[in-house]
Amino acid sequence: MKSKKVISFILALAMILSLAACGSNTGEKPAGESKDNAIFTAGTYEGEAEGFHGTIKATVTVTETEITDIAVVHTETAGLGDKAVEKIVLEIKENTSLNVPMVSGATYSSKGIMAAVEAALEKAGADIAALKSKEIAGSNEKAEDIEKTADVIIIGAGGAGLAAAVSAHQNGASVIVIEKQPQVGGNTIISGSAYNSADPDRQSTLQMTELEKKTVEGILAEEQTDPMVKEWQNTLKKEWDEYLASGKTTLFDSPTLHKLQTYNGGDKVAEPALIDTFAENTLPAIKWLEGLGMEFKNEVFTVLGALWNRSHKPVKPLGTGYIETYMSYIEENKSDIEIMLDTKADSFIIEDGAVKGVNAERNGAKVVLHAKNGVVLATGGFGANVEMREQYNKSWPSLKSALTTNHTGATGDGIVMAQEINASLVGMEYIQLLPMGDPKTGSLSGNIEQGVQNRIFVNKEGNRFVDEGARRDVMTKALMDQKDAYMWVIVDQHSYPSGDTKNNFNETIDDLVAAGRAFKGETLEELAAQIGVDPANLVSAVDTFNKAVDGTVADEFGRTLFADKIDTAPYYAGARVPTVHHTMGGVEINEFAQAVGADGQLIKGLYAAGEVTGGIHGSNRLGGNALADIAVFGRIAGKSAALAK
Ligand code: ADP
Repeated sequence: MKSKKVISFILALAMILSLAACGSNTGEKPAGESKDNAIFTAGTYEGEAEGFHGTIKATVTVTETEITDIAVVHTETAGLGDKAVEKIVLEIKENTSLNVPMVSGATYSSKGIMAAVEAALEKAGADIAALKSKEIAGSNEKAEDIEKTADVIIIGAGGAGLAAAVSAHQNGASVIVIEKQPQVGGNTIISGSAYNSADPDRQSTLQMTELEKKTVEGILAEEQTDPMVKEWQNTLKKEWDEYLASGKTTLFDSPTLHKLQTYNGGDKVAEPALIDTFAENTLPAIKWLEGLGMEFKNEVFTVLGALWNRSHKPVKPLGTGYIETYMSYIEENKSDIEIMLDTKADSFIIEDGAVKGVNAERNGAKVVLHAKNGVVLATGGFGANVEMREQYNKSWPSLKSALTTNHTGATGDGIVMAQEINASLVGMEYIQLLPMGDPKTGSLSGNIEQGVQNRIFVNKEGNRFVDEGARRDVMTKALMDQKDAYMWVIVDQHSYPSGDTKNNFNETIDDLVAAGRAFKGETLEELAAQIGVDPANLVSAVDTFNKAVDGTVADEFGRTLFADKIDTAPYYAGARVPTVHHTMGGVEINEFAQAVGADGQLIKGLYAAGEVTGGIHGSNRLGGNALADIAVFGRIAGKSAALAK
């Protein structure tokens, strides 16, 4: 089934293509005659290939010598696949060549589009090898060198960099953001978009269970040594006593509980002062985003590994809400905020021991950017850099061939740049894997869970194997011990009341089933037969789980997060494998997002925010804490840099 997005995209694309097609038919011979220089058999042909999120279909129309039309139908992520499609399609057409560059950051989509067009052209009788080696116009041209100055230079236009850009401008700065990819958005735009924050209004309709009460009591009883963390515990005790005395039955939450869960959930190795700033500012940052026009849904949920019911979901799909919000502010203030795409930072400009700017490169030309006040490093993590993963990984078996949820630009450039100027790096060995990757691509798309409470995981035998409400590292380690490190997420109608209900990646369950990425059964036995697991095991796993939901028995894996039983057809299953998701380590910062040197002194002029930094999440990041982190610290970094002198 085609989504509206796809159809409207085709319309938009059709406009672009018809513009590009103008004037391209001159010199054509009347139909029926064949030219000596014919390279195609005139006609319209279709080709298909796999993209990042499913099949890409290309319909290509050719004369004997030219490509006159390419229509592409795809479900690649908005802002990522779309850009790749537009750029590649125009270049193939204008140059009658398959030797066009991949769109960096959308390599998988680019390859899919190229392959689909190639398949169509093959049917048109093209010499594919010749088209693949045909030089395209302008490929040897070198762009002009650039030198510019702004109050604040920001490296990276993901969620952290864009938050910093808006915040720096709100604090009076002129801003230049450089981004090495041809589009903004980083990992945020392809994320499930969950944002953790205690939020009394949105949590007011949730009930507190006995198991959740025990969790709070366990946190109060946990032994702590750090003075600030002990102080959090004292505060939590007061808040908890007040809650109990009030007789409330609604879910208890507070920034203090969020701090303690973040700290404990990362094995107590994070920097408490950073967690303190983080959790105190998650709700103010939501209000800030809302003030900029962003909309969040009224209900909160528990995203994978969040441990508590405080994950906010934007109204717009995936992470597009965040990025569109920042970009519309930037567009409105474009006289003061410039975004330079395809511009890759290489090194810092250092003068008098302070960071004064950035050396970068665009299309082979030198880009020198001077910062009057400061530079914000927001280049993200290194989840997509296999060598760096191998260099730092201490917690997992080799991750050389592991898939990743990350965009291809997550290569740790900023960490290397910071290292060159002697920045302190912390927690580099902590790499987060999720048990939730698409078995083919590692992407989070196709994930059928709607939240922690209403789904279980079963292995290839159809048996549960872990507390599905546990930490991400715990669940992934358990998955790695299962046959082929492969599992099925099992849900029922509670998660998908109708076939057009969407998952967190804007995909309907009907579409996922039609594409063979999810399976549907009217009974558990029927579902088991489809996914090839033992039906008796699956039925027994669900029965035992249901008894834990109604409290008849304690959960066999110690699970504490429940909502509904899995008891209402249709039932669904989706396959998942381990995938590299987040690198917790990076540049050390203080509460003002100022970068710290290996000598323990602040690095003048350098600020950092987002996944490029370390020390906030410890050994394991809670699900839903990353988007909150990048908004909170991106905002702080932008302000600190703007106000620096
Ligand atoms: P975060 O979540 O911290 O914002 P992301 O990975 O989402 O991190 O975004 C980081 C952005 O920085 C990405 O868009 C990435 O392409 C960009 N980036 C990474 N390295 C460089 C570099 N050397 N120069 C410019 N931009 C970069």
